[in-house]
Amino acid sequence: MLDTLRRIILKVNAAPNLQEALRVIVTQIKAAMGVDVCSVYLADPEREQYVLMATEGYHQHAVRRVTLAFGKGLVSLVAQREEPMNLEDAASHPRYALALETGEDVYRGFLGVPIIQHRRVLGVLVIRKREACKFSDDDETFLVTLAAQLSGAISHADASGEINELLQDRGSERYNLKGLPGAPGVALGRARVLYPPADLKSIPDREVQDVEAEVKRFRAAVLAVQDELRSLSASLASQLPREDLALFDALVLMLGSDSLVNNAVTRIRAGNWAQGALRDTIIEHVALFENVDDAYMRERASDVRDLGQRLLAQLQPQGMEPETAYPRTILVGEEISAGQLAELPSGALVGVISARGSSTSHVAILARALGIPAVMGVEDLPVGRLEGQELIADGYWGRVFVRPSATVREEFQRLEAEEAELTADLHAQVDLPAQTPDGVRVPLLANTGLRSDIAPSLRSGAEGVGLYRTEVPFMIRDRFPGEEEQRRIYRHVLEAFAPRPVILRTLDVGGDKALPYFPIQEDNPFLGWRGIRISLDHPEIFLTQLRAIMKASAGLWNAKLLLPMISGVAEVDAALGLIRRAFNEVVEEGAELDMPEVGVMIEVPSAVYQVEGLARRVDFLSVGTNDLTQYLLAVDRNNARVAPLFDTLHPAVIGALRQVMEGAHRHGKPVSVCGEMAGDPAAALLLLGLGVDSLSMSAASLPRVKWVIRSFTQARARALLEELSGYEDPLAIRARLNDELEQAGLGGLVRPGK
Ligand code: PEP
Ligand code: MG
Repeated sequence: MLDTLRRIILKVNAAPNLQEALRVIVTQIKAAMGVDVCSVYLADPEREQYVLMATEGYHQHAVRRVTLAFGKGLVSLVAQREEPMNLEDAASHPRYALALETGEDVYRGFLGVPIIQHRRVLGVLVIRKREACKFSDDDETFLVTLAAQLSGAISHADASGEINELLQDRGSERYNLKGLPGAPGVALGRARVLYPPADLKSIPDREVQDVEAEVKRFRAAVLAVQDELRSLSASLASQLPREDLALFDALVLMLGSDSLVNNAVTRIRAGNWAQGALRDTIIEHVALFENVDDAYMRERASDVRDLGQRLLAQLQPQGMEPETAYPRTILVGEEISAGQLAELPSGALVGVISARGSSTSHVAILARALGIPAVMGVEDLPVGRLEGQELIADGYWGRVFVRPSATVREEFQRLEAEEAELTADLHAQVDLPAQTPDGVRVPLLANTGLRSDIAPSLRSGAEGVGLYRTEVPFMIRDRFPGEEEQRRIYRHVLEAFAPRPVILRTLDVGGDKALPYFPIQEDNPFLGWRGIRISLDHPEIFLTQLRAIMKASAGLWNAKLLLPMISGVAEVDAALGLIRRAFNEVVEEGAELDMPEVGVMIEVPSAVYQVEGLARRVDFLSVGTNDLTQYLLAVDRNNARVAPLFDTLHPAVIGALRQVMEGAHRHGKPVSVCGEMAGDPAAALLLLGLGVDSLSMSAASLPRVKWVIRSFTQARARALLEELSGYEDPLAIRARLNDELEQAGLGGLVRPGK
């Protein structure tokens, strides 16, 4: 059974489109299970009906003609109940409805299972037998497993418009995709698809003008890879047995074979560029091998993939050349790195759309810092088909419109203009104090890390830097920067903001922040070696950084230290010991110094429970709500699949924040919030009620939050917090806060438009 299941799944995955995948599945299931009929119905929400999309056993002319209204018939009932229905005699069920076109009048045995993706019923998979019979538990499990497999393909086809195309029987003109809000704002532009240097699957199609030149380019890549393999084989000749070296010969031969090269060349001649032609050829060849029953032959599929990667590396230009950007570029990709944003010529980038990640991914944080809307976690993003397409990105609600209609385009042009007005209004209050109408000052500071963040932060009216992520300059280098190099980097930001304070967070790598030259391989990186744990294990790295910070602050005295990922007081004691040591060393070298203030980040739940012990030891606390939420709710901050569960307005997060404020204030220590929550206007209102002493956020969010602080008294915010303490649902809390902003005339902060 397991083998059959595996074979069917491989075949379905190799199908070039949904229609073919459905056809394969019904044919294979009918044959494997010995039933009389196997059919797939898909939901058409617009017409509120289920449509027969593929069948083996019924008349083929029934395909796409037979429909069952929502709420009618057994298929609908399976979907409604969201569970399998196994009926011995379907005809005697009260919901039984006969569809004559299928010729189904004689079928009695019925097993239907819903096809569900992310809690949404996409369709129903059904098998039938002529005679009355109850299907076995094994049959049921088999069908449920296949339905689960199918759900991914269907949901992808749904997102890409393929289902619509099939249902309508006409070309899909436009469609919408749903992701997660990443950075606020709306953008209209053209898609420039990015792909990681060696990821074949996400290579987009691209038209070529000079076909012969492209063929030549491809053939040159083939020759280069053949050479590469030969020299690889030669260099390993003394270390590997002959049988293993034969692998290289086999690869060289495979490359020399007509089938692979000619196949790709034919595709190039049909108009696709070499990378796109290679992608299709490799996928097709991999499927050929994977579908073979012989285990040895199946293994060859990985050789083909390897060849594909090698050829791609030859074909792929290094990074994106700046001139390839459109005047209004929306970057689109499976996963976009912070560095790729920086590669575009300034002014050309208007939006970001990523299949992975969420609002707390570092690329979203960077987009916010640059004031560019971002939509994250668009799981079904058809990356390969979007190059050059007209797109709209709505970073407030996480929507993407592909080839929008004239009406949608006009609406968003209007909203974009309103957004620009709102931005201008907000900037007009840059020099006004962040003070509530009842006289409470809540200093607003900036989060930075890149040199390019400094100017926008200063322009935004930041009263200092509340979080300088020192790992950022570490991330964009190819080795650890030395003490003097670091001193210069820190000096630059300290000078730019002096006499305003700059809180430099010590190195926080690990988790989702990797240094290319310091790889960390772990099964659970977020629960592993990261932040202060690395610094304490490598005092040589930590001390160098501390000395560089202290020296950088000479004569300015505006640097403060912040320790990331503290999970207990022992770590603070150890870190303070090293800070004192660095201080003494620098003083001994003759520098005139004051000991900098030291704070800890509260971003691990254990720190919340030890807040008083921590507050006694340090000068200030800063809550990292990105990690705190991740750890409190057990929701990976970068995993789009669980992103709807990541909510900083969860009552548990609010409860933790309350405990931190009370504990720290009992010891007279101020609390700041420097996670993304601080830049969320609705959350800022809540934080004001909680009595936060300062907030630190990206420059783009700062004017928005200042408007909130200047519009609400702390008394009002406290009353609202009191009211919300009875709420249990994060969504209801957000709705209430948004409503409060709307009523005060600040609705433009939480939705598109003014
Ligand atoms: C946080 O975790 O909230 C935080 C500010 O740190 P980072 O996002 O850099 O992990
Ligand atoms: Mg953090």
